[in-house]
Amino acid sequence: MPDGKPAGVPCIQLTDDLRCAIFTDPARPAVCGGLQAEAAMCGPDRLHALAWLTELEHATAP
Ligand code: SF4
Repeated sequence: MPDGKPAGVPCIQLTDDLRCAIFTDPARPAVCGGLQAEAAMCGPDRLHALAWLTELEHATAP
């Protein structure tokens, strides 16, 4: 693993209340700030968003 984390593993910066511990820190990875979530990705609730992310993980798995 050259960089980042394996798919399906929570980020080490994710707090217990599902917030980013370094959201305003310049050390926050550029890829995080670069994600431009669209309404279709977020959907009406967390379950929809997680299903979308799972689909992306499967589609981009090595
Ligand atoms: S925004 Fe990035 S650094 Fe923060 S919790 Fe999410 S993946 Fe981790």
